[in-house]
Amino acid sequence: MSISSSWQWQIKNALKTEKDFKKIFSLSREEENGFRLGKDIFNIQATPYYVSLADPHNVNDPIRRMIMPLEAETKDLLETQEDPLGENKNRPVKRIIHRYKDRVLFLATDFCGIYCRYCTRKHFTGGGEVFPKKSEYQEAIDYIKEHKEIKEVILSGGDPLTLSDLKLDKILSDLDEIKHIDLIRIGSRLLAACPMRITKDLIKVLKRSKPVVMMVHFNHPNEISDLTREAFSLLVDSGFQVLNQMVLLNGVNNHPAIIYRLSRELLKSRVFPYYMFQCDPSPGTSHLRTSIEESLKIQEELWGRSSGLALPTLSVDIPSGGGKSYLSPNHIVLKNDKGYGFKGFDGVSAFYENPPKSMRLEPFLSGEDIKIWE
Ligand SMILES: *Cc1c(COP(=O)(O)O)cnc(C)c1O
Repeated sequence: MSISSSWQWQIKNALKTEKDFKKIFSLSREEENGFRLGKDIFNIQATPYYVSLADPHNVNDPIRRMIMPLEAETKDLLETQEDPLGENKNRPVKRIIHRYKDRVLFLATDFCGIYCRYCTRKHFTGGGEVFPKKSEYQEAIDYIKEHKEIKEVILSGGDPLTLSDLKLDKILSDLDEIKHIDLIRIGSRLLAACPMRITKDLIKVLKRSKPVVMMVHFNHPNEISDLTREAFSLLVDSGFQVLNQMVLLNGVNNHPAIIYRLSRELLKSRVFPYYMFQCDPSPGTSHLRTSIEESLKIQEELWGRSSGLALPTLSVDIPSGGGKSYLSPNHIVLKNDKGYGFKGFDGVSAFYENPPKSMRLEPFLSGEDIKIWE
């Protein structure tokens, strides 16, 4: 195995400065200014592997746009965007975000392999700790233990796969011991930034008594290489479910053909599209965001053309902690007391008539149903 194929090497040798990037790319004025004006505001970092996926001669390259700072990023720095999802309101302890009753985010690290220019958590990723302080860690575990309504823990951050196997093993075995947890998700961009992170040793760490689901993050088919396919195979052959969460990005993937191609590529590797997110309005992201209208139009075109398995769900995080809202193309054209009128994607119209209200029955609820739904 050559040295550059180890994930630790990739992270250690990541490009960070204008000088590093100039070795590969000839920088535009906008990009140079992005480095000079932005270097003290937001982290800049990309692994040599990820950079190798970009065309160094094309300023419009999608990979380049996701990692290269631009002057525009230093312009719209509104205070209100610091915490675009209002996550701090749903943060009972420092490392936990608890917005939905049955699942929490566990911010297991502040560190990432690459710093995406559109990051939702720009206000803290990269700035702080590689691993939580002992007290913060224990506080998070205790919170999960005390809240029996929590069924799923989503490891997030930062990128939890930047933690060593040893640290991950510690977190997963602590969670494994909490009886009311059914499932653990790991949200990671590292499969795109550094697929060599998926090693046989990591697989051993991930194999626990409780199911671990891998939530990956790919936005463009150019992010998928032979190494990515190997990593997907290793995960899926070992029995892990892999789901993709993507972000719609202006000038990167804002066309249904790109999303379609990405989804088909993922399906070939047995990875299923899950969410397609509206980009969050974190500071300095206006040039990377699509409008809601454009996102809906992309979703509508995909609905008509794409296999359901290849179709991610478009969703926007309501700013200020409102949670997710699905964005669905509206096919309802009529509503009356008998039912609903629809017009399908290719123009076919029809009416769905409700059954008579008097026919409705209450189902039999078991004691467990009643308890769980209180
Ligand atoms: C998105 C999100 C989740 C997970 O939601 P799912 O719809 O189950 O994928 C959990 N907690 C927070 C705070 C989230 O933003």
